[in-house]
Amino acid sequence: MAVALLSIGTELTRGEILNTNAAWLAAELTAAGFTVSESTTVDDDVDHIAAAVRQLASAHRLVIATGGLGPTTDDLTPLAAARATGTDLVRDDSTLLAIRRRVESRGKTMNAGHEKQAEVPSGSEILPNSSGTAPGFGIHLGESTVFFLPGVPREMKSMFTEQVLPRVRPAAPNNTFQVRLRTYGLPESALGELLKGVEEAYPGITLGYRVHYPEVDVKVHAHAATHSMAHELALRATAEVRERLGTAVYGEGDDAFPEMVGRSVRARGWRLAVSESCTGGLISHLLTSYPASDYLVGAAVTYANSAKTRLLGVAEDTLRGHGAVSAEVAAEMAQGVRRLCEVDVGISVTGIAGPTGGTATKPVGLCYWAVSHPGGLVVRDRVFSGDREEVQLGAAYAVLDLLRRIAGNLPER
Ligand code: ATP
Ligand code: MG
Repeated sequence: MAVALLSIGTELTRGEILNTNAAWLAAELTAAGFTVSESTTVDDDVDHIAAAVRQLASAHRLVIATGGLGPTTDDLTPLAAARATGTDLVRDDSTLLAIRRRVESRGKTMNAGHEKQAEVPSGSEILPNSSGTAPGFGIHLGESTVFFLPGVPREMKSMFTEQVLPRVRPAAPNNTFQVRLRTYGLPESALGELLKGVEEAYPGITLGYRVHYPEVDVKVHAHAATHSMAHELALRATAEVRERLGTAVYGEGDDAFPEMVGRSVRARGWRLAVSESCTGGLISHLLTSYPASDYLVGAAVTYANSAKTRLLGVAEDTLRGHGAVSAEVAAEMAQGVRRLCEVDVGISVTGIAGPTGGTATKPVGLCYWAVSHPGGLVVRDRVFSGDREEVQLGAAYAVLDLLRRIAGNLPER
């Protein structure tokens, strides 16, 4: 069943806040088996809101609206909903009582704003608010049901989960299943090329790509007659996709890249030390952002040459002869931090994150990274494109991927 979202608020249309409500609701509804086919945003204007409600309800069996239920003069949604249905606002006594209890339990006294929040379109179904004051409500408009929820994300989420989802879930077709594969190392275009023909070979499968630099998610979405058929189809197609993409796939669902790198290091029983220059601590931050990162013994941010020499023992001759951004220095950094922390593996990154500091022979974005491990030393380099943040993230991922491949005995690409 096709569903529409309506996001209400001038702060949204002016671009002052991000519409996280619509993103969250769309993901929840999709997971529940609905198809969200339209998402509209309107400002706090009674006529605009009423027109959008009528238009969306005419084309969708279910509409979920958020925002504008509060006590202030810019909260006009109940009035607009009444106008859309051709009814009046009425005060709901049990809602007024609930608001009074909530207000007084906090040692405050009722004001006009509180009383305003007990007004809902006549004939609507009230949705209690377990984490705030203003109730939500549901109305019928032609063939459609429209639910109105608060704009505050915390209140919206609890009301959707507690009040809306149990009411609408039985209407979900629930005949889809989706697997999210997490990939790193291949651009979107290369992934698309490798997966050519999969959709034709598996009718009912659609592939979706989502880039969040430097990763790309590949979504294998199955649509079939029943949920279990969709599940089975998704698993068969996913096996084929995994086969074609090989080790570019590092995980599935909520797996996170640094976490999976850490897992391969742990699986080897290795202890790790990190030395970073242009990434400024990003690599150790990524690794420690996930629990069970105790394989990491220490990290050194050695930005200046003097720190590279004093902390890691990088030779002054190497720095003078090859420059701080060089394969030789990356190698000595990795070996140095490995020695310093007395661990199994040392990794390093040195590079030019930009936007300044590049030369004819060493352009902005040039990075060297190294892994010194029990089996030897590997040094790699690349010129990353993008801004400073993208170069840093690109380099951090590159050394982590090399580490993942060495630890997991996977081939390098
Ligand atoms: P309140 O009682 O706080 O006025 P309300 O139901 O009237 O609640 P709004 O006034 O529309 O909701 O929004 C309140 C706040 O909630 C906004 O200032 C904003 O911070 C947040 N918010 C509203 N809509 C969204 C949205 N679509 N995405 C993310 N945040 C939102
Ligand atoms: Mg408000």
